[in-house]
Amino acid sequence: MTSSLDVIVIGAGQAGLALGHQLARRRADFLLLEAGPEVGHSWRSRWDSLRLFSPAQYDSLPGLPFPAPAETHPTKDDVADYLAAYAAHFRLPVRLNSPVLRVHRTPDGRFAVTTPTEVLSARQVVVATGPFQTSRTPALAAHMDPHVPQVHSAEYRNPAQLPAGGRVLVVGAANSGLQIAAELADTCSVTVAVGSRPTELPQRIAGRDLFFWLTRSGFFTVPTDSRIARRLRTRGDLVIGTRSRELRRRGMDFRPRLTDVAGRTAVFVDGTSLDVDAVVWATGYRTDYSWLHVPGAVVDGRFRHTAGVAEVPGLYVIGQPWQTSRGSALLGFVGADAATLSVRMAADSAGAERRHALEVAG
Ligand SMILES: Cc1cc2nc3c(=O)[nH]c(=O)nc-3n(C[C@H](O)[C@H](O)[C@H](O)COP(=O)(O)OP(=O)(O)OC[C@H]3O[C@@H](n4cnc5c(N)ncnc54)[C@H](O)[C@@H]3O)c2cc1C
Repeated sequence: MTSSLDVIVIGAGQAGLALGHQLARRRADFLLLEAGPEVGHSWRSRWDSLRLFSPAQYDSLPGLPFPAPAETHPTKDDVADYLAAYAAHFRLPVRLNSPVLRVHRTPDGRFAVTTPTEVLSARQVVVATGPFQTSRTPALAAHMDPHVPQVHSAEYRNPAQLPAGGRVLVVGAANSGLQIAAELADTCSVTVAVGSRPTELPQRIAGRDLFFWLTRSGFFTVPTDSRIARRLRTRGDLVIGTRSRELRRRGMDFRPRLTDVAGRTAVFVDGTSLDVDAVVWATGYRTDYSWLHVPGAVVDGRFRHTAGVAEVPGLYVIGQPWQTSRGSALLGFVGADAATLSVRMAADSAGAERRHALEVAG
């Protein structure tokens, strides 16, 4: 072991930074380990034209307002810059280029956290690695002619990656799929395959941004374990600002679920088919906790927790969708979870110290 700490936070995205801010206020001895080469890496890596659907007044982390006028929608680079400025402003101890390769428990009840260059020891570990870690592509992608370019929305940057004038199939009609399809429509002939159709809402309603109404109605803060939250979760996520009706009006081709692929031909559930020149998989993400070697922490690929507290003592998570509410995985709301979690961590830590002192004394 090269170093012993109270807390290690794995991931310095918005969730890790918001928690880091609370830990700094508590004067905890802690470190944020970040796999990427810069703070804000996950935002920087998203597609070039991406703008937040949440307007700037809903994008601040605690203690430092987002530096953009209210009612404007910052770019993904604005967010990356803001997160870097946040870490610098609060002098948060972030170690970059430090992917955590393994976490395991040591016999003294602490955690050993392994990066390519060192093994650190901590009493508490917080997983803040984000909900969008590994791109998910359906198995039938492997049946596509290898000459047909395929990109997942996680790797998509701009239309220049795809053959101009070609027929591009976008698979998935949630926020990423529809936004990318709308952008590609200027240079390509686009077909969207719709697996399941999420609820679509306009960015503005009755002269106000949708976020105003959703915040006012408690949509982002209704507790995860409430009946209304359970109902909202079964309905799936919202598509904000891009309307498939509008895209149809502009001449975009929509098909139902993609069921098969053979050579260059895509086959849909209604029996229709289409020859394609390229495919964009906007088919979502899955989490990857293969580095977390802590028995009981992850079951069926899911991090087991209640409001961010794992059943394994000393282990926590932040930034999970619906961790405590819909807002848990959003910029403007994760701060509330960070504040609550840091209080809980301090209490757990004090409890563990008391138990240890009693053991030593007795
Ligand atoms: C396309 C898109 C648009 C979105 N638009 C909005 C929006 O408009 N408004 C909004 O509020 N939210 C939006 N979100 C949702 C959410 O705010 C983002 O997903 C956000 O990036 C989540 O923050 P996070 O800190 O939880 O995770 P991330 O931003 O993913 O940060 C996790 C960090 O952990 C690091 N990491 C991962 N594994 C390891 C490891 N093993 N060791 C060390 N470090 C590791 C990563 O490098 C990364 O920096 C959007 C999400 C997407 C995908």
